[in-house]
Amino acid sequence: MLELENLIGGELRASESKAWLDNVEPATGKPFARIPRSNAADVAAAVAAARSAFPGWSVTPFEQRAECLRKWGALIAQHSEALILAESQDNGKPVSLARAVDIPRAQKNLEFFAGAIEHFASDAHIPAGATHIHYTHRKPIGIVGCISPWNLPLYLFTWKIAPALAAGNCVIAKPSEVTPVTAWMLSKWAEEAGFPPGVFNVLHGLGHEAGQALVEHPEVKAISFTGGTQTGAHIARTTAGMFKKLSLELGGKNPAVIFADCDFEKAVATTIRSSFANQGQICLCSSRILIEDSIYDDFRDALVAKARRIVPGDPADQATKMGALVSAPHRDKVLGFIREAQELGATVLCGGEAALAPNERCETGYFVQPTVLEGLGPKCSINQQEIFGPVITLQRFHSEAEAVELANDSTYGLAATIWTQDAQKAHRVASNIESGIAWINCWLVRDLRTPFGGVKSSGVGREGGFEALRFFTEPQSVCIPTA
Ligand code: NAD
Repeated sequence: MLELENLIGGELRASESKAWLDNVEPATGKPFARIPRSNAADVAAAVAAARSAFPGWSVTPFEQRAECLRKWGALIAQHSEALILAESQDNGKPVSLARAVDIPRAQKNLEFFAGAIEHFASDAHIPAGATHIHYTHRKPIGIVGCISPWNLPLYLFTWKIAPALAAGNCVIAKPSEVTPVTAWMLSKWAEEAGFPPGVFNVLHGLGHEAGQALVEHPEVKAISFTGGTQTGAHIARTTAGMFKKLSLELGGKNPAVIFADCDFEKAVATTIRSSFANQGQICLCSSRILIEDSIYDDFRDALVAKARRIVPGDPADQATKMGALVSAPHRDKVLGFIREAQELGATVLCGGEAALAPNERCETGYFVQPTVLEGLGPKCSINQQEIFGPVITLQRFHSEAEAVELANDSTYGLAATIWTQDAQKAHRVASNIESGIAWINCWLVRDLRTPFGGVKSSGVGREGGFEALRFFTEPQSVCIPTA
């Protein structure tokens, strides 16, 4: 069985606890690796290592920090096939998706922030005839914690650590205990990429143990967290009195607003993708499909026909488009929502059950059919709570105002997709929807320079481009006389 280690002070090692956690393959339900069950003692050791490394790393020229990130990116490219297979085995996602999205994007994240730090600059304020010059000195914060979820394991892990390291911080990262393998692989190449010992540390283990100890540590000055809204709220409460910098990327309940004047075929095809990609386990996935009354029946029928054709398969099979859900508890939670929907009077238009195992190897895996529900009101739990699986609901609207009202009838505000060929209406609706991100006639198209994040219960702060570098630096205003 594969045995993962923490990376502390440049050394790969087991936890001080000497305890381990099983890591299960979602497609088979069988353990294939074990990970250190890290605790507060491991956090203390990682903090000590980061503390020693910080004075050197924080003054390392940015070109050299960028070079380390680029080398790390090249190592991802060099080992990409192993990473693709590991990500698929660990998460249950199809290898085709890990190949097309997760692993190339992880490489891109490292390369992108290598470039970003080379172009990052701060402001100076010099009024005409100035007696004083004011400039902003952006300094690395110190030791920062990066905590990531299981749905896009290496993709989101690198999205946090890259800007943190580029800006000159020392990082203690905690990948999800559910999908730890690719973060461990990356940690093994940190030295080869050129990072001095202690600059980048990785702790594996449970959220309420290793994660909690990291969040609570007084020397960890900032926490960048992506995960569930409840966990985010708990972290915010824990750190409130400690005045740490916090970036919280949380859950979503994203509307797709389909107007009658949309490009019908494109809207159907993309809504299928935005609903069911990664088994619906992307925070940006559409989950509430709002359809204008005059095309409701046609759109529903076309969507359901396409959804019925998606058959969950073995993630290791190159042809598979939908894999397994990430864990047994998560599968049970998703199936529980579907049962609750039925009790509330929903009509199941397709799916609604655990899916048959695609082959003998996957007999005890966690497969769920793509599920389309109709007939539920906007206020019911199924339309309010994040399901985070291959389950969507359909609702009907009669006017632009009603579409916006339905879209905003949520405590979440992460992403929305809007389908119309009327550019003015598209812009108006996008600006009236309470979300951090709006896609018009497309989905999941990302420019890494743009701000990324949510409003309402979907989070606080923005990642991406210079926003991330601003988060991972502390601005100091300096004033100096001109004469
Ligand atoms: P989660 O909140 O259970 O866990 C996320 C991470 O936090 C894990 O590494 C976990 O170990 C850690 N953690 C748990 N409790 C902790 C604590 N008390 N202190 C510190 N760390 C703790 O989330 P998950 O189930 O892994 O991920 C799914 C959720 O993530 C969904 O809600 C999804 O919408 C959200 N998500 C959001 C975004 C975004 O960008 N907004 C992206 C991906 C996923």
